[in-house]
Amino acid sequence: MLHPVPHLTDAGGPIVKFEDVTAGYQNEPAIRDVSFEISTGDFVGILGPSGSGKTTILRTILRDTRLFGGAVHVAGGVSPARSRVAYVPQLETVDWNFPVTVEEVVLMGVQGHRFWPWPTRSERARAQDLMDRLSIGEFAKRHIRRLSGGQQQRVFLARALAHDPALLLLDEPTNGVDIRTRDEILHLLDELNHQGITIVLTTHELNAVAAHLPWVICINETLIAAGSPSDIFTSEILMATYGAEMPVLEYQGLTLVAEQPHHFGQHADANGEGLKDGAHGADRIQSTSEEHLV
Ligand code: ADP
Repeated sequence: MLHPVPHLTDAGGPIVKFEDVTAGYQNEPAIRDVSFEISTGDFVGILGPSGSGKTTILRTILRDTRLFGGAVHVAGGVSPARSRVAYVPQLETVDWNFPVTVEEVVLMGVQGHRFWPWPTRSERARAQDLMDRLSIGEFAKRHIRRLSGGQQQRVFLARALAHDPALLLLDEPTNGVDIRTRDEILHLLDELNHQGITIVLTTHELNAVAAHLPWVICINETLIAAGSPSDIFTSEILMATYGAEMPVLEYQGLTLVAEQPHHFGQHADANGEGLKDGAHGADRIQSTSEEHLV
């Protein structure tokens, strides 16, 4: 578990507050009447199925959506000049053919709106510091396409950290990376959180990511629930969020979510009987003595 400490309810007041927010694009709201608070110093996961409005929440914090109603408060504001809010986009949205090196991407963050092909000596030094901090210094001159998924995530993290943000927003930072890289990214974010940065990420990974965070927000166009995973991971809340039956169980202090077992393959009948290698999915999880369904 990354974060054994409970959600920080009174750690310096909210850094983000949504009051009845309805926001979206053109003439169409994507989230409706959403209210929640994110405490300063917290580490929060926004959960929901594809298209439920997770990215829209991040973009609304950045004032990058159309606000139809309600109010969004971000401590310190998000004006470009004094922004303490940094955003790491989904890697899928990056144009990997754009001819740019690791150092150049990080320099974009360091130089901000003054981006210019000839950085000053101090800008280069700052970029080098950030790359070293994220262990990508040795790849400075490498094209970003020629990196692993975890290294690419670090490049965009380094760019985001250039302005010493108080609030770091990450869109699906563990999407499409292998298990080791996912753990690496989460531990890195945990480290940054312990250095005082409030972290908000979106994810659709319940057990691998959300279960380890101190606070999660479930969204499906409207706010379904917010709380610690042990409070939020209930069959009712997950049904309202995902529209699917999801049994919940306890395992070594974590509240985890199983999917209803499906039985694929020509030797599985409709009841799951006749499976070649015994029980699958939730059946097998339930059979372990350490765990029990809640
Ligand atoms: P998620 O991050 O949970 O997958 P999004 O916040 O990206 O969901 O999308 C929520 C809804 O808003 C979806 O119906 C999506 O089609 C719509 N949407 C997202 N981005 C845009 C856009 N730029 N223009 C119009 N509609 C959008």
